[in-house]
Amino acid sequence: MVLGKQGAGKGTQCVRLSHHYVVPHVSSGDMLRAAVKSRAELGLRAQVLMDQGELVSDELIMEMVGQRLAQPDVRLRGFVLDGCPRTITQAEMLDELLAPETLDLVIDLEVPTHLVLRRLAARRVCVDCGTNYSVSSPPALKGICDVCGGEVVQREDDTEEAIGRRLELYERQTAPLLHFYRRANLLAIVNGTGAADAVTRRVVRVIDEHLMDDRGRPRSERA
Ligand code: AMP
Repeated sequence: MVLGKQGAGKGTQCVRLSHHYVVPHVSSGDMLRAAVKSRAELGLRAQVLMDQGELVSDELIMEMVGQRLAQPDVRLRGFVLDGCPRTITQAEMLDELLAPETLDLVIDLEVPTHLVLRRLAARRVCVDCGTNYSVSSPPALKGICDVCGGEVVQREDDTEEAIGRRLELYERQTAPLLHFYRRANLLAIVNGTGAADAVTRRVVRVIDEHLMDDRGRPRSERA
């Protein structure tokens, strides 16, 4: 599972990790955006909160994530969890969902707030596959995703007010998870600054050290 402030590069790194380890990428934000796009009832309920940078209710999130984690691909291969849990209540509900299994590792991507603000203002994202771009590193064809051909836009919740609110909620609701997972001996802190490739190399090294045996095979079934 990958933690980090908004704009710390969680989404980008989670997509890369899911390709690297060939495991599903489970992103609560992507699932909510898909529900908004398909005008599903859950999406309509969540949209206002998302646009304002507020958190969606723990129950709604965990029901959605719980359904995804019960799917055969996740059960078979393991998963990279992105954007969830964001509160202690969600973390406790996640523990119950996974029992008797546990998370293998929680990565905290550390990026100073002034860098995060700069990244968020420049962030662009594919509405279909969620691939992240930035103003300084756009897709090859303007507005068209390199990966899937979807439309690349600025997120509706990347406004100054919503970003400020999300960072405030991060400090209040999500940062306490660092203590929660440190106590559970699951936390690894990784420097999230610099180029995405360099961050990926750092994260993969940490995961391999924790989860792979000397021959590069997983110590357990999950990654
Ligand atoms: P993200 O793509 O992870 O930045 O999520 C976008 C928005 O979806 C957040 O600002 C929240 O409004 C909502 N959201 C995503 N994941 C969660 C979660 N675990 N708990 C509450 N709200 C969430």
